Amino acid sequence: MDIAIIGAGVTGLTAAYDLLRQGDHVTLYEARPYVGGVAAGFKDEAWDWSLERFYHHIFATDKEFLALVRDLGLAEEMNFPRPLTSLYHHGDIYPLDSPLAVLQFKPLPFVDRVRFGAVAAFVRYNPFWKPFERVTADAWLSHAMGQRAYETLWQPLLEGKFGPHYREVNMAWFWARLAKRTPRLGYFNGGFQRLWEHLADEIRALGGVLHLATPVRGIQADGHSLRLTLDSQDVPHERVLATCSPQALTRLAPQLPAEYTARLRQLKAMGAVVLILALRHPVSQRHYWINIPKREGFPFLAFVEHTNYMSPQHYGGDTLVYCGDYVDPGHRYFAMSAEALLAEFLPGIRRINPDFDPSWVRRMWKFSASYAQPVPPIHHSRAIPPLRTPLANLWMANMSQVYPWDRGTNYAVALGRQVAAAML
Ligand SMILES: Cc1cc2nc3c(=O)[nH]c(=O)nc-3n(C[C@H](O)[C@H](O)[C@H](O)COP(=O)(O)OP(=O)(O)OC[C@H]3O[C@@H](n4cnc5c(N)ncnc54)[C@H](O)[C@@H]3O)c2cc1C
Repeated sequence: MDIAIIGAGVTGLTAAYDLLRQGDHVTLYEARPYVGGVAAGFKDEAWDWSLERFYHHIFATDKEFLALVRDLGLAEEMNFPRPLTSLYHHGDIYPLDSPLAVLQFKPLPFVDRVRFGAVAAFVRYNPFWKPFERVTADAWLSHAMGQRAYETLWQPLLEGKFGPHYREVNMAWFWARLAKRTPRLGYFNGGFQRLWEHLADEIRALGGVLHLATPVRGIQADGHSLRLTLDSQDVPHERVLATCSPQALTRLAPQLPAEYTARLRQLKAMGAVVLILALRHPVSQRHYWINIPKREGFPFLAFVEHTNYMSPQHYGGDTLVYCGDYVDPGHRYFAMSAEALLAEFLPGIRRINPDFDPSWVRRMWKFSASYAQPVPPIHHSRAIPPLRTPLANLWMANMSQVYPWDRGTNYAVALGRQVAAAML
């Protein structure tokens, strides 16, 4: 088989790796000049390790990811520290990553904390997720744990991640989050980009062809093959796997039936915008991840101090922080410069550390992705598009098909493997 893959993110790379090992010819076309997609990293001249454009870690339960790392002979390169995950609440920051931490969370009356813990345990150890997709997380959680505990602890998380759509998200998605998360968070020595580049090297060694900075502009059925339109030429392939967003696929392949593209366009997703700061001083002292309730007037939803997770010595002594937000793809943050975002975020950062001063900033970067987080509404399992599209020999694999799990590199690996097997 002569197979083209659009996108060298984790899904495309994994699918290519499996297809090549089974004897197919694979050509990858990647629009960006680097591999890794939204999980890719970059490196400042002062650093030994690369840093992800968007904060990344994996969980100890991420079996598919860890199996791939083992396949590549790189298991020794994973490390699993236990950094602090916390919540900002009315001016204080509370560690909140264990049942004990919840029991010690003073802003809630003790009875609410116990109820919260009991509900969390019930959800986490319940093996049946399907009934949960009939109800929204907002309705179920506020009823089960009481309005006060919900509004303090979990509503901020949902609202931060899904913005105006948070009331639509189903409870199965929330179940999956609780069922799979672990307090130990895994990181790849040297940064995840090192892993993606290693995988790309393996793909080349197996005979795969990888074209970077090569956007595919169109997909046309042409007899028994599919013709890809590139900037410089048109190329035919027997089969095509597209790993771009469903919305992007509808634009690339106008021959897809209208009824099908209408279904793809109904799948909602959030974009993501992050500001990364390389600083001369630490900000929060010990917290890795601080969830921020937007209702408290913050301009971002997560403050992630990466160097409270991985040592600053890998980054030339810089303190590295992300201020991140999930926003609708048309949000004004997408058009703002890093400098303008810093000005916007400054009051929020000062609420975390009042001494913070822009003179601490050695360098900054802004990154955005318009397709970052699918929104799974009630009965989402019925809306998931199949891997095979109605256009002959055109397949698709992307985050919209990851469910009930929260999208992540682990599931991108699983999806890449699944679609490679299905295409054969
Ligand atoms: C803010 C943020 C934080 C995250 N945090 C974590 C985390 O902590 N842990 C974790 O495991 N996961 C995390 N994820 C999720 C994880 O990164 C994704 O689930 C995974 O990387 C998706 O991989 P993918 O290959 O399916 O998609 P993408 O990474 O989106 O890859 C698609 C690729 O296709 C390319 N492409 C698109 N259109 C074209 C075209 N026309 N021609 C050529 N190429 C094209 C794109 O450039 C891209 O490289 C995070 C994601 C975001 C956005």
